[in-house]
Amino acid sequence: MEIVINLAYLYSATSFILGLKFMGNTQKAKSGNLFAATGMLVAIIATSYLVINQDPKVENIIILILVLLIGTVVGRYMSKKVEMTAMPQLVSLFNALGGLSAFIISLNELVINFNNDLTIIFKTVVISGIVLGGASFTGSIIAFYKLSGKFNKGNPKLLKRVSQMLLIVIMILSISIITTPDFTISSVITIVLISLFSLFYGVLFSLPIGGADMPVLISLLNAITGIATIFSGIVFNNPIMIVGGVLVGSTGIILTIQMCKAMNRSLKNILFGVQKGAINTSNDTEIEVQQTSTVEVSSLLAFSKKIAVIPGYGMAVAQAQQACYELQKKLIERGAELTYIIHPVAGRMPGHMNVLLAEANIDYRYIKDMVDVNDAMEQFDVAIIIGANDVVNPAAETDVNSIIYGMPIIKAYKAKQVIMMKRGMATGYSGAINPLFGRSNCKILFGDAKESLVKINDELKNI
Ligand code: NDP
Repeated sequence: MEIVINLAYLYSATSFILGLKFMGNTQKAKSGNLFAATGMLVAIIATSYLVINQDPKVENIIILILVLLIGTVVGRYMSKKVEMTAMPQLVSLFNALGGLSAFIISLNELVINFNNDLTIIFKTVVISGIVLGGASFTGSIIAFYKLSGKFNKGNPKLLKRVSQMLLIVIMILSISIITTPDFTISSVITIVLISLFSLFYGVLFSLPIGGADMPVLISLLNAITGIATIFSGIVFNNPIMIVGGVLVGSTGIILTIQMCKAMNRSLKNILFGVQKGAINTSNDTEIEVQQTSTVEVSSLLAFSKKIAVIPGYGMAVAQAQQACYELQKKLIERGAELTYIIHPVAGRMPGHMNVLLAEANIDYRYIKDMVDVNDAMEQFDVAIIIGANDVVNPAAETDVNSIIYGMPIIKAYKAKQVIMMKRGMATGYSGAINPLFGRSNCKILFGDAKESLVKINDELKNI
């Protein structure tokens, strides 16, 4: 039977890797998801068989079936019910559950082996699982609330200092327990303290990171959960958990590096440094703006040759991607050249805009990364910004006091004419005031992005 289990795990590992590969292509993304899901199903069946075979008690089987049933029902309900705009929060919640699992598994292994003669390697692995799993669990819960627009205040400098001190305490306690030859009652206290401090550390670590640095926090928490899962896999001697953990951990690390590059910030700076700049919490930024109408925008688009479309979080809120595709069809029929320009941190989760555009069947050949077009932005007759704000904010280049100063932006302001679609004068996620609103080549089309696009599409029929 062992060979069948190993073959099943091999199938799962291959499916996970193929799934990841396919998800890099819009046409194959759905099959990628399916691949990864079947891989997970096979891994669950194989592991369930192993568990039942190793300890065939009725109560264990009942617990296993119950847990699988609850997980399936809750997972299905959430995937059906959760709005597209709440996806980033859901991903954080799932990440939190991954961390919690690693935390419980490691703690449980330490408790059941408490009186055994434990090797230093075993103790290192389980303590690492407790610390990383615990921190990733509570950190992801904080990220969940931050993505929902809460917890964006506080004293980051103080929190960062306290979290650094707590990390040192956790490390000292961990080394002391790993090097203790025999566990005593004081070891129990140390393990409880390590567990509690790790949970608390996750909160302190995530709280001060906010605004435009959120994408880095999210990808870092993914990486930490992946690494915690590797430790759980080692404890259980389970190859598929190790493979899953390696994939999540390594992709999380790559994403963290990419996000740091996109924000032009070092990880050290984000984790330990203090961000300068003011956050504007008011929705009424005092900038004089030029307002436009759907009639004016449709005639501008109808007679433009080179058009840039810059989507942002507002497109996700408005669910405007399909209307955007309709606009694309109309403009291309009229002979315009249309390019979607994507900023790496646009939206609220890595790849958010790509997912939305893929959902509307927008071909990848029309989509360009910011770095590939930024130097040629002045060639665009019009840049139409659909619910983006921070990622086109020129304060990142000009205002040393802005919270987003130094972050690379899409240089939409260089286009001959800029149209911003938004509902009001609200700032973006970072809270930074956007001077683009007041530029002479920028007009604002107030209203929900989808409603505006539908109207523009209708107007275009008459031109
Ligand atoms: P922003 O959050 O900067 O701006 C979104 C804009 O959309 C707002 O100005 C809002 O203005 C407008 N908007 C909202 N709803 C609608 C609607 N229905 N119709 C039209 N407009 C709408 O988005 P960006 O994509 O430019 O930037 C992303 C920000 O999020 C960055 O700061 C990034 O660091 C951060 N972030 C990114 C993550 C990621 O992984 N990508 C994760 C976490 C944070 P108004 O209300 O006036 O309409």
